Amino acid sequence: MLILMRTDATRNDIERVVKKIKLLGFTGHEIPGETRVAIGVTGNKSRLDPELFESMPGVAEAVPVTKPYKLAARETRQERSVVQVDGETIGGRELALIAGPCSVETWDQLLETAVDVKAAGAKFLRSGAFKPRSSPYSFQGLKEEGLVMLKEVKKQTGLKIVTEAKDMLTLPAVSEVADLIQIGARNMQNYSLLEAVGDLKKPVLLKRGIAASLEELLLAAEYILARGNYNVVLCERGIRTFEQSTRFTLDLNAIPVLKKNSHLPIIVDPSHGIGMWDGVAPMSMAAIAAGADGLMIEVHKRPEEALSDGFQSLKPERFHELVRRLAELAPLVERTITREKSTR
Ligand code: PEP
Ligand code: MN
Repeated sequence: MLILMRTDATRNDIERVVKKIKLLGFTGHEIPGETRVAIGVTGNKSRLDPELFESMPGVAEAVPVTKPYKLAARETRQERSVVQVDGETIGGRELALIAGPCSVETWDQLLETAVDVKAAGAKFLRSGAFKPRSSPYSFQGLKEEGLVMLKEVKKQTGLKIVTEAKDMLTLPAVSEVADLIQIGARNMQNYSLLEAVGDLKKPVLLKRGIAASLEELLLAAEYILARGNYNVVLCERGIRTFEQSTRFTLDLNAIPVLKKNSHLPIIVDPSHGIGMWDGVAPMSMAAIAAGADGLMIEVHKRPEEALSDGFQSLKPERFHELVRRLAELAPLVERTITREKSTR
């Protein structure tokens, strides 16, 4: 249920409602809006009687939320959510550009790529230190050593760090370094991990599972929101279909559907979505044209030598060229890409 407060509701009115929800054994989530506060109720097993709240001072109305996900639903919040990530934003007018190597490999590789993607216009550096790989014999990441490098590269470049928390064991260390904690496709339904990042209150990038419906993705986001962490960014990264000529099938439909059903920002990862470097630019343009709030793109200086996902990684100069084209496209969809004056 969603309780809509009146525009002239006082702090006391709001607190009284939250207290009543608690007394009933449920959880109240205060959702600030442009003109008035809404309070989401979670934890109730059956429908609540609106009268319980509508008789209280300051309450305009109490309405049921029809979707199975509640706090993630557009019904709960009309305005689009803008997630704050250490001074940068995702979901506002400015498009979020996240770029970097699939994995942290060496210090020089990481720093050079970071400097390159920053010069091109990225505000976020992506790179995995703990890698979930399909084969146990593949490179598993530099682990703690990779985290140390990410921390240092942030210090030197100011880029915000996006890195994956693969499991509960490594989450504390990852969350120390990550500005945006990535939950990978394979973990989208790891509910203990979702609850744990929900408790951390740090921004979370939640990638869609390779066989997950959009409703399942939003229910996974709900796990994080229900613990009081509202800083969730969704990521479409391709799903498995019968098509064999690409690694995955980038589901661009996800963008308008998620925007219709949820207020959460949605970014697109075209690198995994198509799985070949020469498909990344067209799918990036398509994603932004379709309304995505940003992109996450794999970039590697020498893709042929990459320890993971080289075949789908752009060389820095190609990434630079792509951002130039995206910056031309952005105003057509009422977006901006702010770049520092580049010397290239
Ligand atoms: C990645 O971003 O490198 C990654 C492993 O992504 P996904 O979880 O989408 O496969
Ligand atoms: Mn990858």
